[in-house]
Parts: sequence; structure tokens; C-alpha cells
Amino acid sequence: MQNHSIDKLLLQAAMLAANYRTTIATRPQHPDASYSVMLAAFSAPTPESEMPADAVIDMLAKLAEPGLHTPTGPGFFGWVIGASHPVGVAADVLTSAWGQNCGNLYAAPAAAAVETVAAAWLLDLLELPAECTVGFVTGGTMANFVCLAAARSEVLLRAGWNVESLGLFGAPPIQVYIGDDAHTTVFSALQMLGLGYDRVIRIPTDDAGRMLAPALAEKIDGADMPKIIIAQAGQINTGSFDPFEEIAAIAHHKGAWLHVDGAFGLWARACPAVAEQARGADLADSWATDGHKWLQTPYDCGYAIVRNGDAHRRAMTTAASYLPAAGEGERDPSQYVPELSRRARGFATWAIIRHLGRQGIAEMVARHCCVARRMAERLQAEPGISILNRVVLNQFIVRFGADLSPAEGDALTKKVIAQIQADGVCFVGGARWRGSWVMRISVISWPISEADGDRASEAIISAWRRVA
Ligand SMILES: *Cc1c(COP(=O)(O)O)cnc(C)c1O
Repeated sequence: MQNHSIDKLLLQAAMLAANYRTTIATRPQHPDASYSVMLAAFSAPTPESEMPADAVIDMLAKLAEPGLHTPTGPGFFGWVIGASHPVGVAADVLTSAWGQNCGNLYAAPAAAAVETVAAAWLLDLLELPAECTVGFVTGGTMANFVCLAAARSEVLLRAGWNVESLGLFGAPPIQVYIGDDAHTTVFSALQMLGLGYDRVIRIPTDDAGRMLAPALAEKIDGADMPKIIIAQAGQINTGSFDPFEEIAAIAHHKGAWLHVDGAFGLWARACPAVAEQARGADLADSWATDGHKWLQTPYDCGYAIVRNGDAHRRAMTTAASYLPAAGEGERDPSQYVPELSRRARGFATWAIIRHLGRQGIAEMVARHCCVARRMAERLQAEPGISILNRVVLNQFIVRFGADLSPAEGDALTKKVIAQIQADGVCFVGGARWRGSWVMRISVISWPISEADGDRASEAIISAWRRVA
């Protein structure tokens, strides 16, 4: 690097980042620029010659900032998205600077060891069996993928088929059972694993999106066929949890592998105030959860947790003979994820858990759930605003207008959402629920306090009154 020393360059980036983060609360809570504006801003011919490093970093910040969304701010209620906790961001700077390839424990001893420790902490916090293995992946989608790959491996092995070596052609068919309100990315995982997103038996759900256990018991095949049941902790619209104890009893009775998608909801288990919601989730065989949602790690980070470590390793181990293998009692990071070379995600996970501690995590989850309940109560008190679910966690859905036709109600709800977004005090999103358009509130960004929730409620009510 000719024009600039690395210390100056890192300080420059740190100052730009700090300036962005310390002013986020007072900025409009939406991007100023759309994708097409951003595309025009970044568009340029392929660079032919060098530009000084500090000029590049300055240019990047200047160009990108108008098109940055605001999940790190206190007004973000739009999607189930974490807020990149400052401790995680700082740890991530070190992670990038250290440049460790977390594919192998001999290639990256510190990165591999920190994962081993963070994995044990995660299992402890989530009250899952200590013998589980954990893969550090990019997010919930890949966590579901890895867990379901382990499930596929195990149920087929029990049927006498080694899917890792033989593939799926000619394998005994697997029957997958999944709740009707499962997250769309679980279907992506099924799609990628050759299990098919339509080749499933969908189990009806109740009005909060919870799988109906009696319907599962009725639909599940009695035959000796390999089976996977996919349950959910935390439905993205209602925050609801499937009845795990009943589902686990059915899974156990029928010899099925039970997987739980708990991208954000599994964190209820780390918070005594709401842990009851996720009771029995520990009876499953595998769990997918995110670091970059409730734990607030920077993007990207998720955890694939599997009770049967042999199945987990069988499904994921890379057959790369030139790399030294892990010894007795050692954990090789690449044995639990699809990748070999990858980012050392354990550092940010370790730093955030070390910073917040069990109490800090429990406090944050409880605070978000309290803010959600308080917002729902405030909005419900306003004529013309309806809350459509019981607020059991941090998620709720809202409909605007009363005594309207479905189409008019949809149009009005969309209009109110657009008004709230334009006002920029807070950011909310929309979703389709039971055929109707609704506004969705997620309280999951770490800085959000009761006062932030109150400010958002008033902004929503003000927008509603103006639109109405
Ligand atoms: C967010 C989410 C996912 C997908 O996780 P990503 O981190 O976006 O890949 C899966 N399931 C549920 C319930 C989610 O909320």
C-alpha cells in the first residue's frame, strides 16, 4: 500500500463507521436513495489504474450512506433483523484484520478454539443438551440446511442407505412434515437438499400459525418410512411457538427426526420472562438459530445445532485429505458447515456473549417483548387499529380501518405503512397474513427502549390519523 499506512486507513474507516453509528438515531429511519439511485451512483467503467486507499474508503462511505437502511437504529421495526451490536462490530474489525481462514483448527487455532467455547456458551444459554454439535454458518437459512442435511443422513442411514456416498437416486423416500406457517427459507433448504419444497406434507396451523399436533398425529405415516418433522420456534408474523412437547411425543413414537427452526424465537429460551413459550423445544434432534437476529452479531452469522454429532459430521465433513485432521477431543470447524474456507464467525459471537452475559441477553429479550406488548396495547386503544395476534413474544401484526371490504382494508393498510415509512420516525414493513395485508412489527434491534417504542407508536397513530 503506497499512499497510506494501514493504521491510518483503519482509523479512517473506524471514524467513518463511528460517525455513522452515532448519528443513526437522529437520521430518517429509511434509506434516502433507492436501488436504482444507488446503482447510478456506483456505476463506473472497470477501474484501470490505482486510486489511493484512503480516497477509496472515503468514496465508498460517501456513495453508500444515502442507500443504507437503518436496522442499527432505534426506530427499526420492519423485519426480524438484528442491529450489529458495537462489540460485535469491533470484534468483526479484528476478525477481518486478522484474516484467519476458519476452515481448519491447525490453520486457525484461535478462531477454531473460540468457536468451541462460543458453541458451549450457546448451548448453555439456549438450554440445549451439552452434547450437541454446533456449526457456525451464514444465517438461519444455512442453519436449517445443515440441520436438515444431518436429518437426511440419519433417517436414511437407519433405513440402510448412505446418502453422502450414494446420493439420493434410488434412496428410500423420506417423508417430510412441516407446519403450514413455516418460514419460506426452510422450503429453500428442502429444495437444495433434494427433498423438494412441494414434496412435503403440510400440517394445518391455528390462527397464530402454530402447528396443530392432532393434525400431525393424524397425517403422519405409520409405515417404516424415514421421516422428518419440522417445527418452528417464533413465527415471523405472530412470534408463536409450535407445541413442542406434543410434537416431540409424536416424533418419538414414529421414529421421526424432529427439527426446530428457531431463527429468532429459540432465544426465548435464554430469557426467563418468556422461556415458557419455548418449553419442550429441547426435545428436538436439531435446531437452527441466528446470531445476526436476537444475539445482534454483525452479518452474517447463524448456528446449526445437532444432537447427533455423528450425523452432523457425516453430512458436512469435507473429504480433503491434504489437511491435518482433528485429533481426539478436538473440534474442527469445517466438520459442521458446508464450507472449507470461511470467516471466523466465532470471534464476534464470543465477544457479544462475553459482553452482555447471560443477564444482558435475558434483559434485552425481555425488554423487546415488553416494548412489543406496550406498543400493541397503545395501538389497540386507537379507534380503527386492530392487533391481530396475542403478543407472546416480540412480533405482532396490525390492520388498519374497520368495516371495510377486504380490498379496501388492504389498500388502506398499505397506505398507512407507506405514510409511516415516508415520515421516517420509525420503519415498519408489511406482510400478507391469512389472505390480508397487514403491518408487521418486530422489536428485535438491541438499542430499542420503551421510549423508542412509545415514539414509534405515536408516529404510527399520527400517520394513521392523517391517512384516515
Ligand atoms: C429469518 C428467519 C429465517 C432465515 O434466516 P436468515 O438468517 O435470513 O437466513 C428462517 N426462519 C425464521 C423463522 C426466520 O425468522
